[in-house]
Amino acid sequence: MIGLFVFAFVLGIGYVVWLSASASSSTPSQLTPGTSLPTRVKATRTPRPTRTPRPTQTPIPTITPSPAPVHWKVGIVAGHWQNDPGAVCPDGLQEATINLDVASRVVAILQANGIEAELLAEFAEQLGGYRADAFVSIHTDSCEFPDLSGFKVARVASSAIPTVEDRLVGCLIQGYAQATDLAFHKDTITFDMTEYHAFWEIDPATPGAIIELGFMDADRALLTEHSDLAAFGIARGILSFLSGELGNH
Ligand SMILES: [Zn+2]
Repeated sequence: MIGLFVFAFVLGIGYVVWLSASASSSTPSQLTPGTSLPTRVKATRTPRPTRTPRPTQTPIPTITPSPAPVHWKVGIVAGHWQNDPGAVCPDGLQEATINLDVASRVVAILQANGIEAELLAEFAEQLGGYRADAFVSIHTDSCEFPDLSGFKVARVASSAIPTVEDRLVGCLIQGYAQATDLAFHKDTITFDMTEYHAFWEIDPATPGAIIELGFMDADRALLTEHSDLAAFGIARGILSFLSGELGNH
């Protein structure tokens, strides 16, 4: 047994001696002139394990062509917000909740596209003489007509800039219809829309429009579960309107 240990010890010593001998044989002093020194290879760190990406919220889309880098300002009213609930369905769903959700998303998308966009309350103080490149108020139709589905867009009846505002309305209709697949309800545009109070408060040179996103009964799935689509459609409409305004900016 001891003999085995001694044998192993001797074997170990022999190995160490062999190691040091082979190490000294490769020292730079033994290199022939002209041979470059071996470059030291840095020990590379083991790459950090990448973390599993956190589930992110739905990314805010950017829409091309983006009207940036021209500075644009856009005001978005979340209908009834900070004033009243708006239409209320029998099960308690409030119009103001839908409007605020969609309006906030529209503002976020516009900001992601380099636009100075702000969220405004229904009777925000800033509305008096409000100046912007576009102004859109977001509302939703009640639960009162369960058979009705579709959206509406209108501008003030007595517009100071009818051509421009008609173009804003047209862009919103196109963008929203494409994104949501909802039908445009031309015939149910009401006095409340064309004589909307904020139209009389904002600067007459600010292109303004009001949209009714859909009906809270028939279009509920879109309005509550796919509000990102509704917001995307409005943002796309505004962006295409602004692109067309580039020459006038
Ligand atoms: Zn409303």
